[in-house]
Amino acid sequence: MVDLLPAQSQGWQKVESIALEHFNRAGLQEIRTPIVEQTELFSRGIGENTDVVGKEMYNFNDRGGRSCTLRPEGTASVARSIVQHSLLNNGPQRLWYRGPMFRYERPQAGRQRQFHQIGVEFVGLASVMSEAEVISIAWEFLKDVGLNDLTLEINSLGSNEDRNAFKEELKNWLNQRFELLDEDSQKRINVNPLRILDSKNNSTKKLLCEAPSINDFLSNESKTRFDYLQELLENIKIPYKINNNLVRGLDYYSHTAFEITSDNLGSQSTVCGGGRYDGLISELGGPQAPSIGWAIGMERLIILAGEKILQRKSPDVYVIHRGEKAEQLALKITCQLRSANLIIELDYSGASFSKQFKRADRSRAKWAMVIGEDEAAKDQLLIKKLRDNQKDDESKEYIFSRGDLDQLIKKLID
Ligand code: ATP
Ligand code: MG
Repeated sequence: MVDLLPAQSQGWQKVESIALEHFNRAGLQEIRTPIVEQTELFSRGIGENTDVVGKEMYNFNDRGGRSCTLRPEGTASVARSIVQHSLLNNGPQRLWYRGPMFRYERPQAGRQRQFHQIGVEFVGLASVMSEAEVISIAWEFLKDVGLNDLTLEINSLGSNEDRNAFKEELKNWLNQRFELLDEDSQKRINVNPLRILDSKNNSTKKLLCEAPSINDFLSNESKTRFDYLQELLENIKIPYKINNNLVRGLDYYSHTAFEITSDNLGSQSTVCGGGRYDGLISELGGPQAPSIGWAIGMERLIILAGEKILQRKSPDVYVIHRGEKAEQLALKITCQLRSANLIIELDYSGASFSKQFKRADRSRAKWAMVIGEDEAAKDQLLIKKLRDNQKDDESKEYIFSRGDLDQLIKKLID
């Protein structure tokens, strides 16, 4: 598990605030659920035969002897909360969440044991339009963060009946090639054959190019849905690729499944995964409530956004001061300017003016404010422009009396 260090946190904040803007514009509401849930929620909600439940969960017994789990994903918790609080009585729920998730996996770039997801869930909506909208929210958000080499892959997993027929056919086909499969896939044939399609083993992947395709098992109704989704995506100009081998790792998906990937992520190429899960809410004791959602891995998103997103916002003013009276004035004016929404950095070195100026330069501040004994005695403030596009402006200095705060602020934000 990893620390999020100060050098990265502003990048995270930037990404999160972009997400919040997109969610607000789409009329979504936030939901915050506990990090610990009863283990049963995930074994029922995600499925016993998935990697997540079978191999990756952090489970423990609490002092009351109850089996608890650190949540490995957000959807099951959101669904539980919706059922527990009967939120669907108020109509369909369009929600977002964010926070840490926990999976016992082999750590590597873009894969951690504690990682962070930001996710969206539309619960109680069956229309294909809701799928296109949900996808568009992810797509536009990622573009706004500055990612432009993304691929959207979509698939239809059909209805339960379509999928069951396909599973039987796939099992037969795989059993005939049992010896050619990797060991993990051999174990999965009978418990969770669909997951084999998601195998990361190269020789299995090659073999699967010839495997039967879910596409041939879709009922007319499922096909019509899938065609309509494609039409809607074309309408809103979101490019997509059809990938008939795309299945989600979790059991509860049906019809549309999708992933947004980037070649710049190496083997952990998926930044966003989502799809329709029509059976989950009723599985957890709620009403029939068709739903669709996605989750984005924050760590992978930050890797893709690159250095640019991690850059700190530079201060508007770096305050240089010397002497006790100057120090008092420096702190006072700093508080006043911060109240006016300016970013102010105070010098703490107590070094000579020239050294403080060097620090001001390094901070990349737009202005240096200089307060020496002289200024303090006269209750004056001297500001000096540190960087500007126009070279001849560089050495400009201005003096303000402290009573002239409005004038000073006007100059600083000019
Ligand atoms: P993968 O195939 O990469 O293991 P997954 O199918 O298990 O992904 P989901 O459960 O769909 O992933 O989670 C959605 C997103 O959360 C992923 O696309 C990824 O960006 C992120 N994610 C999942 N597991 C991890 C992890 N261990 N560390 C960092 N990010 C993760
Ligand atoms: Mg995984």
